[in-house]
Order: sequence, then structure tokens, then C-alpha cells
Amino acid sequence: MTDVLDIASEFRAAKRNHVGAALRTRMRQAIVAEQATCTTPPSWSAWQQRRQRLEQRVPGFLTLMQQAHGGVTAAPPPSAASGAATLRAVWQASHEAVTPARIVAQWQRYAHQYGLQADAVSFEFEAPRGCCRVVAPGYAVQLALPGGDSAAAWHDCLHEMGHAIVALLTSSDVPRAVDEAVAEVFAADLERDCSALATAAADARTRRLLIAQRLAWAETTGIPMAQPHVPWALWHDPGVQTAYVAAHRFAAPHLGDGLQTRVALQQFVANLSRAIDGGL
Ligand SMILES: [Zn+2]
Repeated sequence: MTDVLDIASEFRAAKRNHVGAALRTRMRQAIVAEQATCTTPPSWSAWQQRRQRLEQRVPGFLTLMQQAHGGVTAAPPPSAASGAATLRAVWQASHEAVTPARIVAQWQRYAHQYGLQADAVSFEFEAPRGCCRVVAPGYAVQLALPGGDSAAAWHDCLHEMGHAIVALLTSSDVPRAVDEAVAEVFAADLERDCSALATAAADARTRRLLIAQRLAWAETTGIPMAQPHVPWALWHDPGVQTAYVAAHRFAAPHLGDGLQTRVALQQFVANLSRAIDGGL
């Protein structure tokens, strides 16, 4: 962490963050504009056409997205890991019901731990998929959380709460790789609270990494994947899959102990964001 008295260094870092934030905003605007005009269903050929149109809107779109969000260079994905069916079953098995009362209690624990206003978050329960929507950075977040009773369902809830904490603790724009790394560190609270889940959680992380590697390779090459439909992430959230791959690596050293204090979390976000924005 930079010495807080080093004003010149702080000024340079803030300037770089503005450059990074401006670039990420420009990319987001291109995606929103493209999504507004495109009404075709997500076939692979529609995806390839959209990919080209994004490059026309912003030359070098994909490369810029990958750099601005802290992505790594995509590589051909490894072949699928085998023999994990038992661990997958543990991950999907009944663990503890995700109830509104439990979610709110968990959030209040986090709010107390990190010095946040508990009412800064509004919840939608039993949502079809987890989602964190930042209403006002530093002040207000909407969390849509899935129902269920499996470790996988709890993982998704804790992951989204991690995004909410980043949004409430940082006023500056955060590259996706950093945001996702924090979310995964929070999701690992599940296995810290229940060590019997540790192996299944590690297996699930490896599977998510493999999916991100496959999606990143498809985005980079423009070659459709070996499945009939375009995955949700490629259609609705283009250009960030290499950032998910990077997030896996950023999170790894902190999965065991977490980021337990407000200062530790803010330093983690600030240091990584500076490294990413400094490279733009
Ligand atoms: Zn996430």
C-alpha cells in the first residue's frame, strides 16, 4: 500500500483510476448501445455478428475490455477434469435452506464486521440468478439472490454479498477481475464455516475456472463452443471472461483466511486496481 502521506503518488494513482474508469465506461456504453439495437435470438452466428459490431463501435473492443478489467491472455482451455461427480453431488446436495432470515442475518454480520450501513442493501429473494446492482456507489445496492438449500446456492449468495461490500466500500471504479476476486473470497466463507465442504468447494472453483477459460477462448477466437446455445455470459456480459480467469488467481491466496477487516479489503482492492489501471 502506498504511504498515505505520499500525496504525489496518491494523485498519480487517482489519475490512472480516472483513465481506467473512463475506458470501462466507454466499453459499457458500447455494450449497452449494441444490446439496445440487437433483437436477434442468441444463435452462434448472431453472437459472431455482435462481436464484429462491437469491434466496429470501438476498434480493439475485446482487447481493451480484457486490459481494462484486468484480464489475462486467453489460452486454449484444458480438457475437462474427470472423476468429480461425487464432489459435484456434495456441492449440489441439501445443506441449509437459503431463507430471507438467514440471508439478512448474514448480511448484518458482514455490515457490522466491515462498518457498513446494514440498510444500504435491499434484497430480492428467490431470484432466478444472483445479481448485484449498484444503485449509488458507496451508498445503495440491490441484491437479487437465488433460493435453494445447497452449498452451490449459498456460494452464489455469499458471492453476490461480496460484490455488494466492494460497491459500498469503494467510491472509485473497480476492474472486474478485482471485484470477482473479492466475491470469491467472500464465497469461501462457506467452506471456512463448514470444513466438510472444502474439497467440494475447491472442485467447484476448478469447474468455474474451466468454464471461464472456455468462454474466454471463444471470445478471443470468435469460434463457437461445442454446445447448441450461446451461454448467458457471452451474450449479456461480453469481454470479461479473461477477467474471471485472472480473478481466480487473485483470490487464491486469500481463500483460507479471507479479507477479514475493512482495511485489508480496501488495500486488496486498491493495490490490484492500481496495478491494472497503471498498465493501461
Ligand atoms: Zn460475480
